[in-house]
Amino acid sequence: MGGRYCAEALVIGAGPAGLGVALGLARSGIDVVVLEGQAGVGSRRRGETIRFDKDMESLLGQGFFEQQVVKRISKRTYFSHTGNCLVNRAISNPNIIINWEHFLNAMAHEAECAGARIWTGATVVDLLEEGGGICGVRAMIGGSAGEELRAKAVFSCGGCDDPASRHLRWDRSKIDLPVVKQLVSGYTGPADRLEYHFHVSGGGLTIGTIFPRARGEAEIILLDAMPTAGSQLTFEEFAAQHPLFGERLAGTDPFYTLETRIPMGGMLSRVSPRAGLVMAGDALGHVQARGGSGIKTSFLIGFGAGELGARAIRSGPWTQEVSDRFERHMASLPHLRSLWRHNFIYSKLRRQIFGRLHTPGDMDRYWPCLKTVLR
Ligand SMILES: Cc1cc2nc3c(=O)[nH]c(=O)nc-3n(C[C@H](O)[C@H](O)[C@H](O)COP(=O)(O)OP(=O)(O)OC[C@H]3O[C@@H](n4cnc5c(N)ncnc54)[C@H](O)[C@@H]3O)c2cc1C
Repeated sequence: MGGRYCAEALVIGAGPAGLGVALGLARSGIDVVVLEGQAGVGSRRRGETIRFDKDMESLLGQGFFEQQVVKRISKRTYFSHTGNCLVNRAISNPNIIINWEHFLNAMAHEAECAGARIWTGATVVDLLEEGGGICGVRAMIGGSAGEELRAKAVFSCGGCDDPASRHLRWDRSKIDLPVVKQLVSGYTGPADRLEYHFHVSGGGLTIGTIFPRARGEAEIILLDAMPTAGSQLTFEEFAAQHPLFGERLAGTDPFYTLETRIPMGGMLSRVSPRAGLVMAGDALGHVQARGGSGIKTSFLIGFGAGELGARAIRSGPWTQEVSDRFERHMASLPHLRSLWRHNFIYSKLRRQIFGRLHTPGDMDRYWPCLKTVLR
């Protein structure tokens, strides 16, 4: 097989998972190239809240979080569909509102300082196979027709659009939930709390969130948490059915809109589904079911995969046996274990409670039970 050998390891995607992998590999002395399809790191914004995490801080440097704070918020309010029930929560480890592009570039800087090379404007169109394993990628770089790049291992961290998921023909519809995000200016609602507004109809559940930012800006999200046929609402439809939500958005001006998916419906497959291939982050559903943790878990699991991947690369050709051993080592990573545990408990509990909510009235009736899982 032809193609240019360009590094020991190729990472697809410079999101939190790909940058975590790149940092783990580069700090272990592996020559790594990250291929990012966007023109710049972080130019397509995703989640912009995180909570301080000591493991992340120890990898990214003391003071990393402090430098990223746009705002701190330590209160949350959840409203039932009718608005008749609500619960207020105080958050002991406050939510930090960040700027996605700055945050990602700060992580990329750490990876580059460790020796990783990041190529932007490099879109992977497919993976290259040899002898049943993955040996490289085909990528469009700077508008080229498609260049074949070879490496000892490929780490696919392309999020919901991950090319390895496509190559392996996985059905992602089980785990990917539709989500729409808007950043708005002119927000005059409560600036000291995150708000969650629930909507129930026809067995479906949608959550409208309002996260205030600095200078009268806010992040508004509609997440189809239990999608059913035709359950996806526009912001206008949601606002029309939820007067308080509508009131909050009145007079605001959207300046950024993103329609995408978020894999909060569970996890897919092994971390190394093929010899020479590792996946991490949203590509596999590494997001806690209760939300607000995708950046942290993707980055930390990515970093662990990078460190363990470096050992596997050094052990010789990446055979199926190496993949099996890698998988066993990944299974004992504390961050992956805690994600499994968390999703098992919360997904099960959530499904059981949400499964009983068919009308807005049901939600108020079950509120005493429901509010125990709203934290
Ligand atoms: C609207 C929204 C709000 C969210 N809110 C939060 C929140 O508040 N807090 C939180 O912690 N998490 C939040 N999340 C989840 C969090 O953003 C994700 O879990 C996290 O970004 C996953 O990281 P990742 O690296 O796996 O994927 P991504 O961040 O999606 O990064 C994947 C990267 O791969 C690149 N890529 C994709 N395909 C290719 C290709 N073929 N070739 C080259 N590059 C490619 C993409 O351009 C992208 O840069 C939110 C997600 C969404 C969608």
